[in-house]
Formats: sequence, C-alpha cells, structure tokens
Amino acid sequence: MYSSKQSDALHIMTYTLNSGIKGTVPLSNQQIEEWLESYRTNTRFITSIGKEFFGLNPELVADFKVQNQFSDYQRVLVPNQPEEAVDHLSSAYKQNEILIKVDCKCGTAYTTDSPFMRTKWYCTKCKEIVFLDPKKGKVETSRGEAFYMTNKYFVERGPIE
Ligand SMILES: [Zn+2]
Repeated sequence: MYSSKQSDALHIMTYTLNSGIKGTVPLSNQQIEEWLESYRTNTRFITSIGKEFFGLNPELVADFKVQNQFSDYQRVLVPNQPEEAVDHLSSAYKQNEILIKVDCKCGTAYTTDSPFMRTKWYCTKCKEIVFLDPKKGKVETSRGEAFYMTNKYFVERGPIE
C-alpha cells in the first residue's frame, strides 16, 4: 500500500441516486468540500478524477456518505500494531543476535551483529575477508561478548567449516 499526504488522501464517497442506484467515487478533501457546496446550493458537481471527469447532479442524489480516516473502513485498512507486540518482537530478535568483533589488518576494528553464526565475515572498509578464530573464544566489547574475527594472522579453521 502506498502512503500519501493526509491532504492528498482520497476518501470513498458512496451515494444513492433517487432511482436506487448506488455508486462510489474516490474524492480528495478538496473535492469533498466542493461536492458539499454543490449539494447545499443544488448545483451540478463536476470534477476530474485522474484523467476522467466525474459529474453528479445533487438533485438526483437521495443520500451520500463519505468514509474518512476516522471511520471503521479506514481502520480496517491501517490496523494499529500494538506497541507491546513490537517490543516483544525486537527483544526476541536481540536474543538471537550474535555479536562479532571484526579486527582487520587494515587497522579497522569494530563490533557488529549478525542474525546467525558465521565463520567468515568481511571488513566494511577494505572488503577483506576476516575469519572466525574459534581458539580465541569471545572477546569483551562495549556491546557485550563478541566472537573474534580477524585476518591479522592465519586462523586455523575449525571443523565447523
Ligand atoms: Zn579492513
């Protein structure tokens, strides 16, 4: 679904003609104002919708209804996600997060995270590959304990790879 500015948002107007025929037309806030004015003054409403023109004679309209952003119809389209669920999701993600300390021979050292365990990573600065040193174990970083990955020395690959 695309998002648009509040003022540009289209609202669905449903109208019923005296003959019983129902119709719907998408209108902007500005067009709704114009329609209401036409209805009040009993003058024909003519507007352009996209590349088409739309005309409605208020004399032939028995009743009409405009669904705006406060109506149930809109609420179904844009359900509010409870904040509790979002918090739960992000903490569940954090639990599975794996911290990696990259120590590159180019002099770059940083801590990053990965959603799953890796034996290879790369330096974001020089794009050189760094390898997990299973013998080194975890190292302390400002964000917590992280797996150490480097290319400063030859790392004996574990049986994982
Ligand atoms: Zn590097």
